[in-house]
Amino acid sequence: MKTTVSHAQELDAQDPLAKFRDRFVITDPDLIYLDGNSLGRLPKETKAMMADLIDQWGDRLIRFWSQDHFNIAKDLGDKMAKLIGASEGEVIIGESTSVNMYKLFVAALEIQKGRKRIITDDLNFPSDIYILDEINRMMGNKHEIEIVKSPDSQTGPVDQIKALLDEDAALLTLSGTVFKSSYNYDMADINAAAREAGALVVWDLSHSVGSVPIDLNGSGADMAIGCSYKYLNGGPGAPAFLYVRKDLQEKLRNPIAGWHGRKNQFDFGLDYHPKDGIERFFSGTPDAFSMAPIGPGVDMLLEAGMDNVRAKSVAQTEYLIELWEAVLQPYGFTLNSPRDAKWRGSHVSVGHPEGWRINQSMINDMNIIPDFRAPDNIRLGIAPLYTTYSDIHEAVMRMKKIMDDKLYEKYTTQSSATGVT
Ligand SMILES: *Cc1c(COP(=O)(O)O)cnc(C)c1O
Repeated sequence: MKTTVSHAQELDAQDPLAKFRDRFVITDPDLIYLDGNSLGRLPKETKAMMADLIDQWGDRLIRFWSQDHFNIAKDLGDKMAKLIGASEGEVIIGESTSVNMYKLFVAALEIQKGRKRIITDDLNFPSDIYILDEINRMMGNKHEIEIVKSPDSQTGPVDQIKALLDEDAALLTLSGTVFKSSYNYDMADINAAAREAGALVVWDLSHSVGSVPIDLNGSGADMAIGCSYKYLNGGPGAPAFLYVRKDLQEKLRNPIAGWHGRKNQFDFGLDYHPKDGIERFFSGTPDAFSMAPIGPGVDMLLEAGMDNVRAKSVAQTEYLIELWEAVLQPYGFTLNSPRDAKWRGSHVSVGHPEGWRINQSMINDMNIIPDFRAPDNIRLGIAPLYTTYSDIHEAVMRMKKIMDDKLYEKYTTQSSATGVT
């Protein structure tokens, strides 16, 4: 019986990646943490490493930089490159994902003069849209931004996007894995269509990196950015990564031209000449303390192997969906993520008209941490390095209890909470 606890335990016993869980700090063994897609757990190695880094600051003062740390943004970028199918010298770490979007959107539009259309979809993350709007305003509203609608709020509108890729298309930007529904774009397919039309593509890989295998070079990607605090376990607000295909780098300008992106920066000359290669996208001093924890997270994923991580992620999301079908669907829960694993990332969204209140009850009564995304998505994030099959089984059983005992009824509805929270 697939719904029994012993079946979950059996799956855990057979799991080749099970040993990685021990390498994370887990202070509450009863807590079922299903939000690793929003903020990953703390690796034990990171804890020791950070204490040591702080000591180095105290002891070495400005000489802190003269050790390995000065090149941290580039060195970590090269490490990250191995995880996302990029080459050395194509990735750097720094700033937030939002700021990196700004840099690449402006840089791309500058070399696409004469082309008016910017394309994205309504499944994209809000920052991406806000930033496009502001850039367009600053550039004199010369562009038209097409926000293509998903047919079902879940699935990427691939054909409609392709129909807009013609000689007037400047820039296409999409989330590789969609933050609400977990839909996965076929990056190679989209890149090929854009390339044929002469449009540039910027991928937001925040929900993909560390959860699905990414092959930036192999899929023909132009540019990409993404978060390192989700499936990479880099810590709250850890800086993002930025990727630019090698042969595109020299053509692009960094709109936040800071001294760290200038050739021979210690000349402190007042004239700006960008560094060669990807380092032209540096702006200011690297936030060394925020970047350093990205290392252990990426190392663990490289050690586990992204194909193995993906295999476990698919098995676990399938298992969760089977439990949803058997246990939760009868209570009115819908599946708000693609049923076919090929089109799904590593989180599963389930919907319910009482989703907001059920989510409150999961957190407050049942010691489960999912998260909620309007209108009705309860997102259940699976991070294969530390999520167990028993976690998934127990989460579904606790959700069943919430429904049987109507525990959610004591919470206010979302509409009355709006404006307060
Ligand atoms: C989490 C997330 C972001 C967040 O960007 P920040 O600048 O780090 O806040 C952006 N895009 C997507 C798709 C995300 O999932």
